[in-house]
Amino acid sequence: MIQHTSKLPNVGTTIFTVMSQLSAKENALNLAQGFPNFPSDPVLIEMIQQALRENYNQYAPMSGASILREAIAEKMEYMYHRNYNPDTEVVVTAGATQAIFTIVSAFVRPNDEVIIFTPAYDCYAPAVEAHGGKVVSIQLKGKEFSVNWNEVRSNISSKTKMMIINTPHNPSGTVFSKEDMLELASILENTNIILLSDEVYEHIIFDGEQHQSAALFPKLAERTFITASFGKTFHNTGWKMGYCVAPKELMDEYKKVHQFNVFSVNHPMQIGIGKYLKKPEHYIQLPAFFQEKRDFFLNEIKDSRFTWIPSQGTYFQVLSYDAITDEQDTEFAKRLTREHKIASIPLSVFNTNKEDHKLLRFCFAKTDETLEKAAAIINKI
Ligand code: PMP
Ligand code: GLN
Repeated sequence: MIQHTSKLPNVGTTIFTVMSQLSAKENALNLAQGFPNFPSDPVLIEMIQQALRENYNQYAPMSGASILREAIAEKMEYMYHRNYNPDTEVVVTAGATQAIFTIVSAFVRPNDEVIIFTPAYDCYAPAVEAHGGKVVSIQLKGKEFSVNWNEVRSNISSKTKMMIINTPHNPSGTVFSKEDMLELASILENTNIILLSDEVYEHIIFDGEQHQSAALFPKLAERTFITASFGKTFHNTGWKMGYCVAPKELMDEYKKVHQFNVFSVNHPMQIGIGKYLKKPEHYIQLPAFFQEKRDFFLNEIKDSRFTWIPSQGTYFQVLSYDAITDEQDTEFAKRLTREHKIASIPLSVFNTNKEDHKLLRFCFAKTDETLEKAAAIINKI
């Protein structure tokens, strides 16, 4: 046997794989891993097929096909009134996951500190630790998952290299307000801290709220990488397409790693998505589309024994089960999958200390028929 010391001794298999596998084995309804069970727009599919037929089948340019980089820059301008140069400040990636890993890889050195907010999406900490960085976790507070900005201030040190935020937030379904972003801007002012703003759910936000992109705040934007995912936006998580934007000086450094990490990503997908993204009508209707799903789901489960605060963004709803059992959330999620045939994600796995608040996350990016079936099960628990 080869002897080696793991770079990630505490990392096991991601909860999304664990729960999706259990769900398949138990023939359960999978509301665990976040993916839609309805198709992408046929118009988009046709655009991809056309790109394949037109033989966009060799390497794309390193930072992405120009039609897509231009469409991304136009969208940033349209949504957030900020100008990103498509040639120097936009890179197309293999999903947001690759963008996040590459950003961390390009900047984080051994012993650098990276601040994250827990419960945190599970790819942040391993990326930092694989590069010898130290994760500094700040726990979001209470059922509202609010940030104590004084705590953030006191956790900043001369070693802080980067901060990772995520709004709308997975797994809690909460969003940062304008005031949160202004606090953040004032904390980061006069530091050299890079902000990684994971905005994969930018188009899934409810009740008339506006997504507070880091791009809207000039003092943040100058130090920020924004990451985004077409999988989330256009209902095709299996395509693994996304992008990141940042000011040129930061992006130059990013590209040094990106070119040897993937060089470039799926060319026909880029051409098809590039054409499709040119039309804002393909994304501005998304908040209403997903709000209908959230409201339908919550109305269907209104008589259940679970309690909740309605999701403010993302396609996840957190349900609290403290009126039902005091079982550990990881155990309860597995038992629900085995015995009730519905799979969810336990929130404790996203907390650094695995703190358990008896919360499960359910994905409502599903057809009404699936949501009805899910509600029938949930109402009997
Ligand atoms: N960040 C968050 C918060 C996510 O929920 C996800 C899952 N889609 C990602 C990043 C990764 O996105 P992608 O599938 O495009 O890699
Ligand atoms: N982002 C998805 C979720 O939160 C999962 C993506 C994955 O399985 N890696 O459920």
